[in-house]
Amino acid sequence: MTHPTELTIAGARRALAAREISAAELTQAHLDAIAALNPRLNAYITVTPELAAAQAAEADAALARGEAGPLAGIPLAIKDLFCTAGTRTTAGSRILGDFVPPYESTVTGNLLRDGAVFLGKANLDEFAMGSSNTSSAFGAAENPWKRQGDDTALVPGGSSGGSAAAVAARLALGATATDTGGSIRQPAAFCGVSGIKPTYGRCSRFGIVAYASSLDQAGPVARTVEDCAILLGSMAGFDPRDSTSADVAVPDFAAAVARGVKGLRIGIPREYRVEGLSPEIDALWRQGMDWLRAEGATLVDISLPHTKYALPTYYIVAPAEASTNLARYDGVRFGLRENGEDLKDLYERTRAAGFGDEVKRRILIGTYVLSAGYYDAYYVKAQQVRALIKRDFDQAWAQVDAILTPATPTAAFGRDENQDDPVAMYLNDVFTITANLAGIPGMSVPAGLDGKGLPLGLQVLGRPFDEETVFAVGGAIERAAGFHALPALRAAA
Ligand code: GLN
Repeated sequence: MTHPTELTIAGARRALAAREISAAELTQAHLDAIAALNPRLNAYITVTPELAAAQAAEADAALARGEAGPLAGIPLAIKDLFCTAGTRTTAGSRILGDFVPPYESTVTGNLLRDGAVFLGKANLDEFAMGSSNTSSAFGAAENPWKRQGDDTALVPGGSSGGSAAAVAARLALGATATDTGGSIRQPAAFCGVSGIKPTYGRCSRFGIVAYASSLDQAGPVARTVEDCAILLGSMAGFDPRDSTSADVAVPDFAAAVARGVKGLRIGIPREYRVEGLSPEIDALWRQGMDWLRAEGATLVDISLPHTKYALPTYYIVAPAEASTNLARYDGVRFGLRENGEDLKDLYERTRAAGFGDEVKRRILIGTYVLSAGYYDAYYVKAQQVRALIKRDFDQAWAQVDAILTPATPTAAFGRDENQDDPVAMYLNDVFTITANLAGIPGMSVPAGLDGKGLPLGLQVLGRPFDEETVFAVGGAIERAAGFHALPALRAAA
């Protein structure tokens, strides 16, 4: 039989239902893999073996009674941005280093309702700000992939680097993640796994540590498109506790994966052929177009003219919202406290000690663009440009059913690269960030390897609340690509 850590979620469900494996065995195989590899990869900040074993035992009992939920016994990694009742939730920050939430996020609660097993909390950039998982207060996570003949530690991408690294290295069958500007899709692409950021409002934000509330969305990372669809089906749904949660039905996402692309019109946005796009990424993109054409889709040249303003717009809107969201970490109500001479001194000492450099940079930028003298020039202007970016997409949907782009401008880079220049780091999200500004779904699917043997992803964008078409196109790319390469560092099979 396939080694338990090599199963897909769909395959594990079948094996569990057929009693070929127990949830306890499946969970233990993952805990063993974590014990062996996590000291190197640092994909998990916190591992919860006792909790996982108890949840697995419950799943086995439910399976025996014939009352198992759709995720009964499936071991998952949970990004350490989702509040988990009774389990430390750090957001990758010193300021929440000892924070144990008294309540469960809606998304993780939905997964528990369906019987999932939580192995632990996955590493991330501090407060989900970053593209490399190097800003975590708990140390960098490492990408399990290696350049051929080169042992350089590569970044897993960010901010959901721990989630993607854990799934790629077989330390979990799937993971939760969040995406504010690309944090699901970019790490998925860097680690050779799939990930989808659904439509804004599809998953509740209740109980997810807030970064930029108008952009943040939860979604899954997994090793197949179908597994992402299965996980999203559990994670999604209306939640009255999040006023931006959408009261729309959750369709059978998994059924859409095999639908095919015959008759679909796929847009190729000319503005995404950015200056300096590597020939390898360009070739992969063209390959993707050929695959979809061969499966019966029609390719349509489209224009999204405001694309070039997306990064600057994001780096005004996201820090503005972050600066207000992070005002709550004051050392008084919860989290780290550094005592001071008076209240103001306590605030200053707590925030100086609790936040890392990138978070402080974002708070400074955000406070500046929201200040009385600059609000109109920066913040209001950015909101206007954001509306134009969204309008570009609204107009495109009259012509096409989905859009195909590269997921990232490069493959995974070394841990020391891009560290001195924040703007170079921000460029990682040039292809993903528009989807957050427009609120539309976007998925990254592994599609090939670069010349050094590192994975590259293609991105599929879709209409609001039409994740099904995104899954259909993602499924077609997955079948055509036949991506079966494996990372150098992974659980022994
Ligand atoms: N890299 C982007 C940033 O640093 C996006 C991060 C994210 O999606 N959470 O803000």
